[in-house]
Amino acid sequence: MRLATITNVAYGATVALTVVSGVMMLLASNAHDRERAAVEQRYQLDKATARLGTDIYAMSEHARQYINTGDETYAVVYRRDEEELESVERRIEHIGDAGASQNELATLTEAIRWADTLHDEQVAAIAAYERGEEARARQILFGPEYERELNRAEMLVQRFQNQLDGRIERVVNEAAAIAAMWKLLAEIVLAITGLLFLCVLYFIFKRRVLHPVVRLSDVVSRLAAEDYATELPEVNQIDEIGDMAQAIRVFRENGLARQRLQAERDADSALRELLSRMTQRMQSCDTLEDFEDVVRRFVPEIDPGRAGRLYLFDESHNAMVEACTWQKPVHSQAEFAPSSCWALRRGMPHRPQSDGIDVPCQHLALADGEISDSLCLPLMAQNETLGLLYLEVRDDSADVLPTPANYIEMLAENISLALANLKLRDALRKMAMHDTLTGLSNRRSFDHVMEKLRTGEGDAAARMSCLMLDVDHFKSFNDRFGHEAGDLVLSEVGKVLQKATREPEFAFRYGGEEFVLLLPDFDSEQAAARAEDIRLRIAALNLHHDGERLGRITISIGVASVPEHCDLSQMVQAADAALYRAKEGGRDRVELAQCRREMRGSTLQTG
Ligand code: GH3
Ligand code: MG
Ligand code: MG
Repeated sequence: MRLATITNVAYGATVALTVVSGVMMLLASNAHDRERAAVEQRYQLDKATARLGTDIYAMSEHARQYINTGDETYAVVYRRDEEELESVERRIEHIGDAGASQNELATLTEAIRWADTLHDEQVAAIAAYERGEEARARQILFGPEYERELNRAEMLVQRFQNQLDGRIERVVNEAAAIAAMWKLLAEIVLAITGLLFLCVLYFIFKRRVLHPVVRLSDVVSRLAAEDYATELPEVNQIDEIGDMAQAIRVFRENGLARQRLQAERDADSALRELLSRMTQRMQSCDTLEDFEDVVRRFVPEIDPGRAGRLYLFDESHNAMVEACTWQKPVHSQAEFAPSSCWALRRGMPHRPQSDGIDVPCQHLALADGEISDSLCLPLMAQNETLGLLYLEVRDDSADVLPTPANYIEMLAENISLALANLKLRDALRKMAMHDTLTGLSNRRSFDHVMEKLRTGEGDAAARMSCLMLDVDHFKSFNDRFGHEAGDLVLSEVGKVLQKATREPEFAFRYGGEEFVLLLPDFDSEQAAARAEDIRLRIAALNLHHDGERLGRITISIGVASVPEHCDLSQMVQAADAALYRAKEGGRDRVELAQCRREMRGSTLQTG
């Protein structure tokens, strides 16, 4: 039940009880009035009838004394008594109107009748006395009959008095009892009213003052300890306590807003810190594998609510190819044509489930009617598409706060820049390690590989062969056909060597018109066979430049094998020495290095 209803009912009850108590007081007062009226009635009836008894006695006395003494004074007094009795009787005639009961009236009527009888006898005795019949008069007034009648009349007056007293006393007692009862009831009701009033007062104080104040004070202590999650009690009353609750509510809301702001700021700086660390790590990556590791490790931390894939653009196949994934994405395919992604087509982020209606990308491979909240961010640098960052909301991420869109865009930008940087460095490294004319690795690359072989662990270089190749009479070829034609020859030789080697074999342009081949796991026999094959292929080239047929191209090759001929450290030197011997021997041939002992001899000779 509502507090207002309870207090209204209680107020109503208090008012009703007060009215009831007032009515009871009135009833008690009414009973008192009746008591007073009864006493008044008794006084009136007493006054009316008291004279009757005395008059009956006085008249009898005066009549007797007149007869005894013959004194006329008594006769006069007697006549006055007669008049008085008459007036008393007239008064008594209306005694019924004054409230006398039937019994009382009967008794009084009988008393009057006897008084009248006595009066008649007194009149008869006086008349007899005045006629001189004194004896007769005495007989009437002093006879036993007269005495009995006189006693009877007095006894009746006395009875009337007793009856009257008895009745009045009863009436007075009843009225007093009723007055006392109403008074007691009125006092009880008044006490109940007072109690009820106090209870209501206490109830209101407790519910409207004490209760809210205690709860508000508890809330204030918790707010003071910065526990803004505490729930405010419902205080809607319009008074000072309501104002206090309102002020506390505003204070709490401000605190919550401050806390939210602080949390957002903390999350913001944590995100920025993560992004910056990720960027630093990406910039330090030397290989794509390292780069993918960084993306796989950081992106789920930056955007925990989404699974994703990093795609890299494979120019040779014109396809977006999955490089790495995180948090198990389910929708996007591992490889797709760039044209099936709206983000790549438009060169801007694409999120079909955003505010408006949009088309999902074809690479999402959704079932009919299936919906996925996906986001595709193209990775671009200097208008060149490098790849795609694909994100999709995880089904179990309802309680994860979404990462703000600007940070996701910043993430994509950072990945793009780092990817471009990596590609650039890769291109530079390739440029530094490759020879553009022949497409082969260059001398620097060769030194690098040799260094790795020398310092490498295990026995990768324990068994291998080295071919040193040199185009014959190239100077005069240049002189005859021109430098450009010479370049063409070098380029074609490069192609032959490229075709003749496959991983883990290496072909290098050693410098000028000299080339080196490293053939791991090749003994001298296998290496010589490969050298012969290459020599024949080059000899079979039929080249033209500016419409002019170039002459037959021949090369000389020196072969050195580890461990048959020498150590790794002497391998190039040994192959070079073998090449020198091939030149010496007439060119267009393959020459094996000499064994260790022989070689030492030949080195000494050439040195
Ligand atoms: P040999 O049979 O003894 O090897 O004689 P050769 O003329 O080939 O040897 P030499 O070392 O005397 O000459 C090498 C020539 O190769 C000199 C140089 O002009 C030419 N050459 C070096 N690099 C290039 C190049 O990149 N392009 C062209 N067209 N010629 C080059
Ligand atoms: Mg040379
Ligand atoms: Mg040469």
